[in-house]
Formats: sequence, structure tokens, C-alpha cells
Amino acid sequence: MSFQVFGIPVSRGVAIGRAVLVASSRVDVAHYFIASADAEQEFARLVRGRDAVTRELQDLKADLPEDAPHELDALLDVHLLLLNDEALVDAARDWIVDRHYNAEWALSAQLEVLARQFDEMEDDYLRERKADLEQVVERVLSALALELDSSAGGGPSAVVARDFAGEDPLLLVAADIAPADMIQFKRSVFQGFITDIGGKTSHTAIVARSMAIPAVVGTREASRLIRQDDWVIIDGDAGTVIVNPSPIILEEYRFRQRQAELENARLARLRHTPAITMDGQRIELHANIELPGDTVSALASGATGVGLFRSEFLFMNREGDLPSEEEQFVAYKAAVEAMAGLPVTIRTVDIGADKPLDRMSVNELRHEHVLNPAMGLRAIRWSLAEPSMFRQQLRAIYRASAFGRVKLLVPMVAHLGEIRQVQETLKRVKAQLDEAGQMYGRVDLGVMVEVPAAAIMLPQLLKHVDFVSIGTNDLIQYTLAIDRADEAVAHLYDPWHPAVLQLLAGSIAQARAAGKEVSVCGEMAGDAAFTDLLLGMGLTCFSMHPSQIPSVKQRVLRADAQRLAAGLPRILESEDPARTAAEVLAKSARLH
Ligand code: PEP
Ligand code: MG
Repeated sequence: MSFQVFGIPVSRGVAIGRAVLVASSRVDVAHYFIASADAEQEFARLVRGRDAVTRELQDLKADLPEDAPHELDALLDVHLLLLNDEALVDAARDWIVDRHYNAEWALSAQLEVLARQFDEMEDDYLRERKADLEQVVERVLSALALELDSSAGGGPSAVVARDFAGEDPLLLVAADIAPADMIQFKRSVFQGFITDIGGKTSHTAIVARSMAIPAVVGTREASRLIRQDDWVIIDGDAGTVIVNPSPIILEEYRFRQRQAELENARLARLRHTPAITMDGQRIELHANIELPGDTVSALASGATGVGLFRSEFLFMNREGDLPSEEEQFVAYKAAVEAMAGLPVTIRTVDIGADKPLDRMSVNELRHEHVLNPAMGLRAIRWSLAEPSMFRQQLRAIYRASAFGRVKLLVPMVAHLGEIRQVQETLKRVKAQLDEAGQMYGRVDLGVMVEVPAAAIMLPQLLKHVDFVSIGTNDLIQYTLAIDRADEAVAHLYDPWHPAVLQLLAGSIAQARAAGKEVSVCGEMAGDAAFTDLLLGMGLTCFSMHPSQIPSVKQRVLRADAQRLAAGLPRILESEDPARTAAEVLAKSARLH
């Protein structure tokens, strides 16, 4: 049966493929692909997990006291029966062998299939056995985790990028995808993402955009309605997910996919064209990256620098430890060398809120650990609370500066005292490097304007830094008090809000007046719908995902910055800036 699910469009384009469900389990399940040569070994691991639980249940049964209620004995029998039914572990073998899922993922995928069969049962007693099946599966997952823990160095093997030649494309469907998992998936080959929760600037959305992969988030129930292997279309422009489409609809979307490919190929030809407005303003279009390898797509898209290296992605997906100074140095140096003399802006770690250190989901973090993570120990607050970790990161960044142009960017600054503390730490770090005879070059210091406090007190902050970068994702979140990851308030997340525009225009103007470099590195910078507005505000440096550079460049090439600036006051005074901008900016566009 064909049906549609609606959500928030966060990454443009059309994707067509088969659904891969990542079940949300109470046990933390790692999802990764294994090499096909390892499939039998992986299945054997799953069988060992099942056998361990079988022994555990048999022991429990044998140790039941004489006077234990008969029901308990019967329940253990049911669990043993479910556990050893060939529909569970034996059937999970197919997910391992055919799909190359790791054992835990294969088992939870099979649980998903069986759980639906239970849901459809007429008989109340049988239907309720679903809960028993879930318990049994959780026991096996725990047994697998225990085995991994006890085998030294036996953590998940490296994620394997699958060779999908000749196979159907796969689309990932999940309740939520933690940023740590997104990074794993980044190295594999999903062609689209659908999640139940999240908003336009949640990090899942940002990573999807960085991969130029169509995504729809905030669907609320996609992971419940869509089944493993369903054919699915993601319309990343409209925010629609079409499940089991008819042949006519399928053909229509395949046509749109081909059109988009043609348009991308056309825009790609702009790669070597400098971004200069019609009135001669040179505009820098920089790339936002998450890992050093992203510099390849940055350069391929014509970026003239890295405006934001989100270093926190080096800190995720780890087995409890943090990256050492050496490991970080190697990563930063790789990015700096790849950019060959172009500036690389490395942001110090921005952990917290919806970017937890481990695979913990946003919801778990929100409900179990911290009251309000977005306002908690996040970004520079966390770094200052972990001084030795912070010094280690700063040393690594400074050492990389010996290999090219490095700029240091501090996230979420709200107090002058935070800048002072960073400067003090830098003094100490430089002294340590001098003492150790380590080379480093000049490193400009900048702050992100992400909290309204920073925007309002920018003239004071500017006296202490070399440049600023405006993070509109968080600036909007904190100005409007809208959690950017919460789909329930996603409709209130409004970049056109007059308060946001005032802070944005004011920050750009103040930085320019102080003769300091200013860029925007939030999602607004990469959305061509805002290019004219930002040019009108006097912005000359935009940083975005590499995939967005061509379309923004096209807007820049057609713009007259002076005319756009002349229209700005009307937009800022308007009660409905989006409408006024459409009128004013369209008029400027017609004039040239
Ligand atoms: C922002 O807040 O706009 C930003 C660029 O930082 P992040 O999205 O990583 O929080
Ligand atoms: Mg931010």
C-alpha cells in the first residue's frame, strides 16, 4: 500500500531506494557495516551471544526454588523458545550475509520484523509475547556487549564503505540518529535519511546537508510506519516521504532526480569562477567541514578556505577516550596541508547539547542526564571546565599552524571573561610549545557570535579578537528560545524574525566598523534564499557546506551589493521582513 509521511525538509534533492530501519533499542546498539568476508565470523558472534543467554536462562530455570510460582518456570520456557526459534537468530543471518550489518544491528532489524508480526496477531496472549521477545533480544545484545568488553581491543571493526554496485540504493530510517552515528554513516553509502525527530538545524540535518544527501526529519512516526526493505522516495525539497510509490510517481521522481543532476553539473562549471558581485565586490565562499577528508569536496566545490572546521567530530565515536594531542595534530595538519595555503578556521570543540560525546541520543541526554543541555556545559564552557583537554587541543591546533594558515575560533562565547581565559590558556600553551621546541605560526583568534549576549556586546568583544564568525543556527535558537533539535517548535525557528535580523545586521556592521573580519558560518550562509540579504548587510565572507557553494556563488555573481544594501533599512524596519525582502530584493535584482 502506498502512503506518505510528512516532515521537515532539511537537505534538498530526491532520493529513491529501499528502507533500512535502525531500531531504537533500550540497549545502545552500534550500527556499522562489516566486510563481506567477515560475515560468517560475525554470525558466529551472534550465535555465541544467543548461546550465552540460553545457558543463563537454563541456569535460572534450574535454580528456581521449589515453591516458585509455576508461571515463572513457564515464562522462562517461553523465553528459551523465542530465543532459539529459527525466526530470530537464524533469520538475522540474512541481514549479516546479504546486507553486511553487524551482529547487533542484524538482530535488532530482525526484532523489528518479528515485532510487527506480533502486533498483527489477533490473539491477545500471543500479541503480548512481543514484550518477551524484546526482553530476550536485549539480553542477547547485552551478552554481545559483554563479549566485546572482555575481548581486549575487540571493539567494532572499522566501518566498511560498501560497494553497492548493482544493488538497490538504501535510505536510512530511524527515530533519531546521534551525530556520532551520522559520522559512521558518512563513510558508508546511504542515499537518504528519514528521522522521527529533529529540526532544520539539528546536527543530523547539518551532516546530511554536508553530504548533499536528501533528508527529511521530524516526521514523528516514519520509523514506526515504514518497514525494512520498503521502497521509499524522499522529497528533500517538500519534506515528503512516499512509501511504496506507484510506478507513475516513481517515474516522475526519477525524472526530477535526473533534472537535479543536470543542474548540479551546470553549477559545477562555476568552480573556478571567482565570486565577484556585479558591482565588483569580491566575496569569499568558504567551506564548513567535519573531518579532514572533507577538504576534498571543499576544494572540488571551489571553496577559498575552510571557514569552520567542527573539531568536535574528532571527539565522537570513541570508546571512552578523547583524541590525543598527536591524533588531533595529525588531523588538523592534514586539513591545513590539503588547503595548501588557504585559511583553515579550526573551531575548538563544541561538545554538548545535541552533540554528546558518545552515541547517546539527544533524547536520552535531555531526559536522563542534564536539565537543559543547550544551555548547559557546552562548547567553550566545557573546554574551560576541562583545562588539560583544552590545552591539548590548543597545542595541536598551534602545531598545525606551522603548515599553513590557521585561525582559531571559539564557540558560544557569552562573557568577556571567557575570552580572557582563552588568552591566558594560549599564553601557557605557547610557552609549553616554545619550551618543547615545537614550531607554530601566527594564529588569529576569533569568537563565534551565537548567543545574543555576544551580539549585543560585540564592540567590547571585538577589542580582544581578530575576527568573528556568526553562527546563525545557535543565534536563532538562543534569540527565539527555540530548541533547534525539537521538531515540536520547529515551525517557530525563523531566520527572518526581526530580532534575528537586527542582531545579524548589527554584528556585521560593528565588525566592519572595527576593521575586523566577519563571516557567517551558520546554515543561513549556505541557503541561496538569504544570499542577497546577507550581501545587503555588507557580508563578504560566507562559510557553508561545500555542496552549497555553487548555488550561493550563482546568486553572488548576479547580485549588486550596493543596491541590496540600499534596500536593507526597509527590511530591518518591517514587521514582516520576509515579505518586504521579497519585494525590495526582487526590485534590486530587476534593476541590474
Ligand atoms: C551555528 O550555531 O550556526 C554553527 C555554525 O555552529 P553549530 O551548527 O556547529 O552549532
Ligand atoms: Mg553553534
